[in-house]
Amino acid sequence: MKLQLLALTKELNKTTEQLQLLELHETGINQSFDGDITPDEISELIRKQNRISHEIITIKRRIQKLNAKTILKAELIVLPILAILVFYVISNHYQPYTTDIPNNIKTRYLIENLQGTTDVVHKYWNLAKGTPLTVSIINPDHLSQDKIDVVKDAILSTNVMHIDNSLLNKSPSDGKSEYFEGWKGALSTINYTKFYVPTDFSIVESDTGPGQIVIILSNLEDPDGYSGYTRSIVDDSQILKSFITIYDADEITNNQLAAVVRHEFGHALGLPHTANPEDLMHATIQTDYPYISECDTTAIQSLYNNDTSNNGFCDTQ
Ligand SMILES: [Zn+2]
Repeated sequence: MKLQLLALTKELNKTTEQLQLLELHETGINQSFDGDITPDEISELIRKQNRISHEIITIKRRIQKLNAKTILKAELIVLPILAILVFYVISNHYQPYTTDIPNNIKTRYLIENLQGTTDVVHKYWNLAKGTPLTVSIINPDHLSQDKIDVVKDAILSTNVMHIDNSLLNKSPSDGKSEYFEGWKGALSTINYTKFYVPTDFSIVESDTGPGQIVIILSNLEDPDGYSGYTRSIVDDSQILKSFITIYDADEITNNQLAAVVRHEFGHALGLPHTANPEDLMHATIQTDYPYISECDTTAIQSLYNNDTSNNGFCDTQ
């Protein structure tokens, strides 16, 4: 290739030289036509000039093609290296479970007992073992099935993930913490409790909301800027019904929707807010990992054991 390029360049130089000589000759003719060169010879020179010009163009095109091939070759070598570098960078910095969450999602909840007081701390469902907890999803604004599926996943998923403690500001920093994407998976890890911890959820999409837990997906914006609100009705410590309202359900991202549903469903199961900002059950969801922690499941275990030494809070890291 290089030799060919060199030969072509030489040929080009030679042709250019010839052309220059010819041009000089022509200039001489124009300046002082002394009869040494006949008009036929001039025509011949012009033809020769045209031919050489044509050759130059051809050679230049060949050189251009050669250059293009060289660039292509360079690309073929460089591109895979770039691809490997990009893959390396991504694989070293990509955290599979990070989300677009940290928007400080505001939530609130309210517990009312039949006497109208609202200071109930310990509350839990008191279901016969193996009885499913019924959940109905009300969708008055006709949100897409995609959104409904996000809500269902936050309840039914059994996906487990392990996140490096170094990312969670937890100790030991070289360890990992287990998180669940859905309540079914998280609650299934609880072994023995005094009251039955629901692990079976029967979800229906219904406008009449027959479920024990009713989730309303609303497009309305809460005037106080809340994204989620849970109101539970209790009799003594027993939860009779929970209403979850998700505001702005079409505006928030699917990851945010999942986080709010996970949080509110935690309330519906009996969990209060935690003072730990790193936890899903913090009043303002601000963690980058808004999943159900071991701390949350331990809090549920305490509640369903009616263990009053632990208020069901998940304040420790
Ligand atoms: Zn809350």
